Amino acid sequence: MSIEKQQQILIVEDEVELAGMLKYLMEQEGFKADIEYNGESAIRSLKANVPDMIILDLMLPQMDGFEVYRQMRHFAAIPVLILSAKMHDDDIVKGLEIGADDYMTKPFNNKELALRVKKILGHATATKKVSSKLEIGDIKIDFAAKEVFLKGNTVALTPTEYNLLSYMALNEGATHSWESLLKEVWGHDEWSGGNKLVKVSVGRLRKKLEEGLNSSDYLLTVWGMGYKLVNPLVE
Ligand code: CA
Repeated sequence: MSIEKQQQILIVEDEVELAGMLKYLMEQEGFKADIEYNGESAIRSLKANVPDMIILDLMLPQMDGFEVYRQMRHFAAIPVLILSAKMHDDDIVKGLEIGADDYMTKPFNNKELALRVKKILGHATATKKVSSKLEIGDIKIDFAAKEVFLKGNTVALTPTEYNLLSYMALNEGATHSWESLLKEVWGHDEWSGGNKLVKVSVGRLRKKLEEGLNSSDYLLTVWGMGYKLVNPLVE
């Protein structure tokens, strides 16, 4: 009989007392909890060790919670519960729009927070999202090894192709404009050649995917909008 691994939660919160309280609360619930007090250290920590879930405050010094989330989405597929002060309702909407799993407004009820965390983690485990590996149909990405398998066969991707694929895979089903891909994958805000760069790179990735998967139903062009990666085996 195997002993179930203790689930790990990263708390990113700059208010020291609140962070300590959250850690205590999560430990009471049987989770392993760690704290990072700012965005940069949170990203470093996430790169070193991907937890099962993150509780993310939006109002952080220097790098805010949105930026942490944006960067994290390049290498980790884990659920996020965002924390926000009540007066910033727009932030909550924005957080949910970019893909956060749930939110709590401060001040919150401890019991309710614990319940929501358990619900998210239970759901995440059931849908196999908690992992450093991601499978979309016949595409399998191992983020730790930076390896991609198509129908079980490893495929050689350039770093850009890998970054593009992993970003789109982590945001499965979402349509990305070339502008947003340029920003998220290449880190360019604006560049006149950007449209072409994205188009060519998507084209190269698409060719490799089509060859390896024997299917053109994964990486789709949404006319006039951009590109998206979907799992044709479930739709
Ligand atoms: Ca804060």
